[in-house]
Amino acid sequence: MKIVMLGAPGAGKGTQAKMIASKYEIPHISTGDIFRANLKNGTELGKKAKVYMDQGLLVPDELTVDLVMDRLAQEDCKKGYILDGFPRTIPQAEALDAALTRIGEKLDYAVDVDVPDENIVTRMSGRRACTGCGATYHVVFNPSKKGDICETCGEPLVLREDDKPETVQKRLDVYHDQTQPLIEYYTKQGILKRVDGTMDMNDVFAAITDILGA
Ligand code: ADP
Ligand code: AMP
Repeated sequence: MKIVMLGAPGAGKGTQAKMIASKYEIPHISTGDIFRANLKNGTELGKKAKVYMDQGLLVPDELTVDLVMDRLAQEDCKKGYILDGFPRTIPQAEALDAALTRIGEKLDYAVDVDVPDENIVTRMSGRRACTGCGATYHVVFNPSKKGDICETCGEPLVLREDDKPETVQKRLDVYHDQTQPLIEYYTKQGILKRVDGTMDMNDVFAAITDILGA
């Protein structure tokens, strides 16, 4: 099964993608996580991406598309995957479609986690990310049992630089401008499925598994 997660930043794509990846035993591929890992390891790509990420802008397609294509060519992706945060522009979606067409495959679903902008600000200001393993918590909706320490790996939790209120509005503007058109793109392909992302995370998960089946 090949799935794309759509939705505004902070809508809950990563939260749901991790649960889906675990249930369906497919890799969870988050471009945001890949960029942050590069940043942490001090790679050239990480340094280039940081300039855009810190401003709430998208990393240019030239840096993003090849990275994802290399990842999708790996062995574990043969059984399918869930893409979280990619594609985020029409050219990225077209590049993905072209790559799939070349190997005679196609996406199964594009799942849009729909959350209004008003809720996004609360979601992002309360999001806490683990500096060790990248796990995500929320101070109110999904707190770590160990306070500001990750339950899984014991490393400190932080507010992401790009989750600060001054950057969140920019990211929402970028989402509406560059990413939201993908909803129409995948509707035309007949694979768009919309779920109400304002529900409790377990209810959102149930709505998604109803769509995916089994
Ligand atoms: P995205 O990957 O779309 O940017 P995340 O999955 O990181 O979003 O979720 C953003 C924040 O909202 C996180 O702090 C997460 O714990 C929280 N969250 C995710 N889903 C829900 C939900 N259904 N209800 C309340 N909070 C949620
Ligand atoms: P995320 O963790 O998905 O919220 O992504 C964090 C940041 O990484 C975004 O605000 C962008 O700057 C960058 N990013 C992640 N995925 C992409 C993508 N597909 N295209 C361009 N930039 C991306």
